[in-house]
Amino acid sequence: MTETPNREAPGAHASAGPDWNGLAERFGTPTYVYDGDWLAANLRSLRAALHPALEVFYSLKANPNRGVYQVLHAAGARAEVSSLAELRLVLDAGTDPADIVFLGPGKSGEEIDACVAAGIYAVVCESFAELRAIEAAAAARGVRQRVLLRVNPALSIAGSRLTMGGKPRQFGIDEAAVLAAGPELAGLRHADVAGVHVYLGTRILDAEVVVKNTAYILDLAERVAEATGIRLDAVDIGGGLGAAYFDNEHDLDIAALAKDLNPLLDRFAAAHPGTRLLMESGRHLTALGGTYLMRVRYTKQSMGEQFAVADGGTHHHMAAVGIGSFVKRNFPLALLSRAPEPGEEPGPWNIAGPLCTPNDTIAKNALLPALRPGDLVGVLRSGAYGPSASPVYFLSHGHPAEVVLRHGRAYLVRRRDTVEDVLGRQSTHPDLGRDEPLE
Ligand SMILES: *Cc1c(COP(=O)(O)O)cnc(C)c1O
Repeated sequence: MTETPNREAPGAHASAGPDWNGLAERFGTPTYVYDGDWLAANLRSLRAALHPALEVFYSLKANPNRGVYQVLHAAGARAEVSSLAELRLVLDAGTDPADIVFLGPGKSGEEIDACVAAGIYAVVCESFAELRAIEAAAAARGVRQRVLLRVNPALSIAGSRLTMGGKPRQFGIDEAAVLAAGPELAGLRHADVAGVHVYLGTRILDAEVVVKNTAYILDLAERVAEATGIRLDAVDIGGGLGAAYFDNEHDLDIAALAKDLNPLLDRFAAAHPGTRLLMESGRHLTALGGTYLMRVRYTKQSMGEQFAVADGGTHHHMAAVGIGSFVKRNFPLALLSRAPEPGEEPGPWNIAGPLCTPNDTIAKNALLPALRPGDLVGVLRSGAYGPSASPVYFLSHGHPAEVVLRHGRAYLVRRRDTVEDVLGRQSTHPDLGRDEPLE
């Protein structure tokens, strides 16, 4: 196979990589293929590099597939969930409730009650109104529920692709309000506020930004404890560790991160021996481990440009649309089904999907060997924010299949939606076709 330059995707090399043709034949296309061995090894190497006191919580939002979580859980990931289904998923997988946190700005009463019923480690609280809801839910069950206050920091640090701090936000409680919340917190009987959570952004590729964020958060946690009198059972430093997708980006240097982060954590852990230190990560734990496998259906020329129309598209891979950037940037792509012709120079290809919108463009002017109908093209580094963050029902195509590779075998961990899956949840009614109102 050939790859666009400077790209390393685990499991995507022809020599040692998976049998893409066999996978496509067995599971069909389009299909997400996750390399379970890579998922486990990557998590283990992150944990080995970072301070042993730092616990890694997997943000299921990035890839909520049960099979993916099964691999990560077995490799030692704890769980950060944000919905009833995600909570159920991690409990079903055997996660110790003491290793689960639940966050999100709009938790329902049912979700809060499920957290309390399961006895999860902490509910991350995002507003004072929610704090009262947690108090009531825990009171109704006659228990105490640990709560971490999510703080909307007064400052923002440049370098994250989506900066969270220093702005009005629906997330968390403003730093100044938290610092002044002592009396309010003292009145709680069942919501046991005992820690701080801060999430300062996502797609961070610069180790120094993570270090600065963490220094700020650890200091903030101490200031909150001092100002409000709460215990610091836990400090959740967020995370937002990035993955490089586009030209001129480089993966976060974990060794460089560890070098500067670990001493910070060490000092904090020494000063607060009973405090758990949590880090959340979704993208870093999954992005490089996934490939979106599509088959080329047709090739054509338009006004001098070459197009390959594939069976997969942006309805499964919204991130490939490249929101927010004026010039379209391509995810790394590779021809996976065969070697290019000997001596062939790659040329520019536009890769489109089957949707009836010009936005359904996976890549523009990607350098690839001459494509032919039947070729398999992989969108690499696609393990995070894939189908679950995409409009899978657009044009009623439905969810793609998902496969996890582990120890040389392939496992279907989600079957592709059928037409019946897509239509079966909808209903008609005889009255809807009447021209006249019913008497
Ligand atoms: C989305 C989210 C995460 C995961 O972010 P990644 O960039 O995928 O690691 C973690 N914490 C919070 C609060 C989030 O909203």
